[in-house]
Amino acid sequence: MDPTDTARPDRYWRAAEPKPSYEAVVVGGGGHGLATAYELAARHGITDVAVLEKGWLAGGNMARNTTIIRSNYLWDESAAIYEHALKLWEGLEEELGTELQFSQRGVMNLSHDVGDVRASKRRLHANRLNGIDAEWLEPDDIVEICPIVNISPDLRYPVLGATFQRRGGTARHDKVAWGYATGADRLGVDIVEHCEVTGFDLDGGRVHGVETTRGTIHAEKVALVAAGHTSALTDMVGLRLPLQSHPLQALVSVLLEPVIDTVVMSNKVHVYVSQADKGELVMGAGIDPYIGYGQRGSFHVIEHQMAAAVELFPIFAHAKLLRTWGGIVDVSPDASPILGLTPIDGLFLNCGWGTGGFKATPASGAVFAATIARDEPHPLARPYALERFTTGALIDEHGAAAVAH
Ligand SMILES: Cc1cc2nc3c(=O)[nH]c(=O)nc-3n(C[C@H](O)[C@H](O)[C@H](O)COP(=O)(O)OP(=O)(O)OC[C@H]3O[C@@H](n4cnc5c(N)ncnc54)[C@H](O)[C@@H]3O)c2cc1C
Repeated sequence: MDPTDTARPDRYWRAAEPKPSYEAVVVGGGGHGLATAYELAARHGITDVAVLEKGWLAGGNMARNTTIIRSNYLWDESAAIYEHALKLWEGLEEELGTELQFSQRGVMNLSHDVGDVRASKRRLHANRLNGIDAEWLEPDDIVEICPIVNISPDLRYPVLGATFQRRGGTARHDKVAWGYATGADRLGVDIVEHCEVTGFDLDGGRVHGVETTRGTIHAEKVALVAAGHTSALTDMVGLRLPLQSHPLQALVSVLLEPVIDTVVMSNKVHVYVSQADKGELVMGAGIDPYIGYGQRGSFHVIEHQMAAAVELFPIFAHAKLLRTWGGIVDVSPDASPILGLTPIDGLFLNCGWGTGGFKATPASGAVFAATIARDEPHPLARPYALERFTTGALIDEHGAAAVAH
């Protein structure tokens, strides 16, 4: 069938029954897990692979995120992996042979005080040194690109300028998941939904497979890509991870005529917005402060986020809320992912992407698959090893790279 057809996505791939044994098992059927399976098959000739998903394909954070893509992170290690991702995004529709509504509409990060301006310019210079496109916008430039931003000096947090990455933008997240699933399926990967991993088969410091709600599955390589639920899985093998799972919520307005054709983010007042092609304003804020696994948020975050949005974009006072939702994100102490090997042979880890992993999806899959195939960290994964929390070689992106996403 034509993969660009928008008919039911479960017709894109086979609903596979789990086999008793695979060369590799990927736990988690979100974007990162599906990209990993696709890359294992497409790039490393490892096609005897199952993706095990406890719910339905891409029912987790993948289809709950607000789809912002950018690569203008501060630290060299982050810039390297996110820019690798952006370059892959730029060829992904061709690679997967499907339309993903990838749109390089630009991403703007507003600055509201002198400290903000300095931090933003520091990041801008760091980006340029890493060959990443980055521009500084004065308030007049901002309204030229996005006329609805309020640049009045009377604001509680006046807009003093912004960084702008023109190559940043958005993509249609569910299509990305379906595209990877379809590609992986074509190459022979089994995608097994409603199959929860409930335990591990461990012997002599090595993994031999997983216990699931659909029976035992043998595999000498087991890759954990379960986003907010990864630490629940590693607890089963006695591996404590420095991760906290928090709800992160977002919302959309009712359909409106196009008013904003870029992405605008503000760290200070903590809100960000883009407009979906069909007209919804897509808005998000920071994580809920408590730890939890309920996929819902709280009203006080929405209230704070809306107050910030209406101050920055007065026209939004006319918008009506259509729906809100939440996902569960895994936040590490330095706000950077954990990617690589574990002390257990054959067990691999890809987690801790927190609030900003969608943009990394293609690179996460590529780098993780190479790590699994070669039993050694891909060069871009090396700095993201679990050991950094004992060596102290942290990649501190908390606050460093502007707003969470
Ligand atoms: C509201 C919100 C907004 C966001 N906005 C952005 C954004 O604008 N830009 C950006 O870059 N990132 C954003 N993110 C973050 C991004 O969505 C995540 O970092 C990323 O999706 C994580 O990777 P994933 O897609 O594989 O995770 P998921 O899609 O969550 O995949 C993990 C899967 O593992 C499955 N699983 C869990 N436990 C088990 C088990 N025991 N057995 C089998 N399967 C299991 C889950 O059901 C789930 O489907 C946002 C997240 C949220 C919640």
